[in-house]
Amino acid sequence: MTVSEQQLQSIVQRVLSRLDTPAVRPGRSGGLGPGDGIYATLDEAVAAASQAQKVLEWQRTLGDRQRIIESIRTTLMQNVEMLASLGVEETGLGRVEDKIAKNKLVITKTPGTEDLTTTAWTGDHGLTLYEFAPWGVIGAICPMTNPSETVICNSIGMIASGNGVVFGPHPNARRVTHLTISLINQAVVAAGGPPSLVTCVAEPTLQVAQSLMTHPGIRLLVVTGGPAVVKAAMGSGKKTIAAGPGNPPSICDETADLDKAGRDMVRGASFDNNIICCDEKEFLAVASIADRLKDVMRKNGALEIDADQYERLKKVILTVDKGPGQESDINKKFVGKNASVILKEIGVRADDSVKIVLVEVNRNDTLLYTEQLMPVIPFTRLRDFDECLELAKEVELGYGHTSSIHSRDITRMSHMARVMNTAIFVKNGPHYAGLGAGGEGPTSFTIAHPTGEGLTYPRHFSRMRRCAVVDSFRIV
Ligand code: NAD
Repeated sequence: MTVSEQQLQSIVQRVLSRLDTPAVRPGRSGGLGPGDGIYATLDEAVAAASQAQKVLEWQRTLGDRQRIIESIRTTLMQNVEMLASLGVEETGLGRVEDKIAKNKLVITKTPGTEDLTTTAWTGDHGLTLYEFAPWGVIGAICPMTNPSETVICNSIGMIASGNGVVFGPHPNARRVTHLTISLINQAVVAAGGPPSLVTCVAEPTLQVAQSLMTHPGIRLLVVTGGPAVVKAAMGSGKKTIAAGPGNPPSICDETADLDKAGRDMVRGASFDNNIICCDEKEFLAVASIADRLKDVMRKNGALEIDADQYERLKKVILTVDKGPGQESDINKKFVGKNASVILKEIGVRADDSVKIVLVEVNRNDTLLYTEQLMPVIPFTRLRDFDECLELAKEVELGYGHTSSIHSRDITRMSHMARVMNTAIFVKNGPHYAGLGAGGEGPTSFTIAHPTGEGLTYPRHFSRMRRCAVVDSFRIV
């Protein structure tokens, strides 16, 4: 069973009418409460998710879990525009149309229970099974760059593997996270699942996120964010799946289909104003095709600025310019803003059809080494493919996150894939194709390159358990 249209509208109205309250507390009139999965304290949020998880594990079947997931997909799909609009409005980051695409992607392409395929060995000594079991309650810390998307993708994957979840949202994404959690809980209950399987505290803070990392009721941590949260989680002493920052380079060589390459590079780099961790963050081009590639980029929404304008822009988008070859400190005020907003700061008028600001820089410019999360993309021309690859390796900063090549030379493609050794490697497409958007395969918005899982699926949120039946049950 899924939530009917009428029920859904009343849930949404009820949730939205209460989201404007500055502090939502259970029991307080007008605030989101336990029925929505929102609790005053972390202890209450963990206890509620733990109680619900036990029901899911012991009193519901795998088929029930899949029905719950289908109900979540249906309910969220009916609310995708609202989640996208609220996400942009509350965080001030990204573009509504791109957030709609991101939410739709996680709703439709995050795998469910079908990801949990049992392994069996049979032989002279019988049968051994290797199966995926739940951890219990997972603590999941989310970024403000994908606020509803991470909650949706983590919830589907973690429920598929039989877990409950306590979310630690970014404080600047409280309302959209609460709304997403509330809708998920309504969908779970509508499909016969337990209430409050997915929970959160009413007032998320950094301290709450830190307490989540050490809470005795949390068996597994899944963190998605920048370097500080990854470091804190990995030092927590708990089993951790960590999805951290990246600085993905994209190379274009002289053999590429330049019309396609230039278009795809702009589309990828501009997606949600470049706040996605795997978006293209530097363009490296072989010199012989660099001018033609820039022409194609301009036709597809890139606006190039000159050296003087760049000097002024750097003062706007960086708070500390650490100089050549160094990662600088960014001005968070401009993270995720439209190119037109950033350009206005240096007196350049542009409308929102401008997707990215393109700036040609030399090979040691600080912008190449800085994860800005803004639609300002450094472009560097280099003698040949080998020089491009050498610089790509350097500016990726050893994260092992994402990289790409536009080329028709399959030897170079294979060589670059090996040298870069990134969790996602895209050939001849925008980086979002590596998330399954216009590329094959399922999606995840928690790309755990520091801990090695890569894109995370239900199997990663599971404990592996093995059972041996000795000397019987082989059928051959
Ligand atoms: P952020 O690191 O500021 O915050 C992420 C989350 O961690 C928030 O919920 C925040 O409250 C919490 N947090 C931050 N510092 C913490 C600490 N010391 N202790 C406990 N919790 C802490 O990041 P953001 O601005 O929300 O997101 C952007 C960053 O996340 C970028 O670096 C981006 O590359 C990365 N990211 C990575 C992935 C991935 O899958 N690898 C996905 C999305 C975002």
